[in-house]
Amino acid sequence: MEIIPLRAELHLIKPAFGQTYLWRDGSELTLVDTGIPGSGPDLAAAFAELGFRRADLRRIVLTHCHEDHAGSAAEVRGWGEVEVLAHRLDAPVVRGERPRAEPVLTEPERALAEQFAGFPSVPPCPVDTELDDGDTIGFGGGAQVIGTPGHTDGSIAIRLPAHGVLFTGDLVANSAEGPLLGPFNTDRARARESFVRLAQVPAELVCFGHGDPLIGAEGAAAWRALGERCQGGPDAVPDPLG
Ligand SMILES: [Zn+2]
Ligand SMILES: [Zn+2]
Repeated sequence: MEIIPLRAELHLIKPAFGQTYLWRDGSELTLVDTGIPGSGPDLAAAFAELGFRRADLRRIVLTHCHEDHAGSAAEVRGWGEVEVLAHRLDAPVVRGERPRAEPVLTEPERALAEQFAGFPSVPPCPVDTELDDGDTIGFGGGAQVIGTPGHTDGSIAIRLPAHGVLFTGDLVANSAEGPLLGPFNTDRARARESFVRLAQVPAELVCFGHGDPLIGAEGAAAWRALGERCQGGPDAVPDPLG
């Protein structure tokens, strides 16, 4: 487990696999994603190290249903009065009512997918609030839900306009070559269209489902440059695995 401070209100916590973001409004805590199944003890250790009480966790926002994001939602929801929020199209998968739609893999993605096979299955988790594009969630000064279908049907990004922060989920991953289309999409063409739209959203601090956040003046400039590039449309989206 690793903790990376990003802002006074924001920490990146990395359990065994996956990335979760902990946002703090006063004593009220919000977790964006939960890591793979079994990450509860790592997240509890992170709370302890940061001096936070598990009982102050108010909500879990899931960017989508995949095991490295929703994997520990059921466990962490049990910490107290915790509301779980997910997009209405991924909520049935999180609840275990419907199997997830499998990604359509490109040739370069096949080898990569083998490395990530064998995660434990996701324990079903109640979804207390179903989200839709354009909804606002009560944290971070008003968190905007941005529907980004393509990685999964119910993938979302979360924007905190008051803080210039953007959580992209898995639609965008960061890499040594910069931000690119995340792998393992159920509908790649749709994901590219979502990418074009999301890249136009202004942000100073961009937090990805995988890869290092874009932070500081350099990070903000990299995000702006990506937005400009993507004005060229879906074919301009960086997609080396496509
Ligand atoms: Zn995913
Ligand atoms: Zn992921």
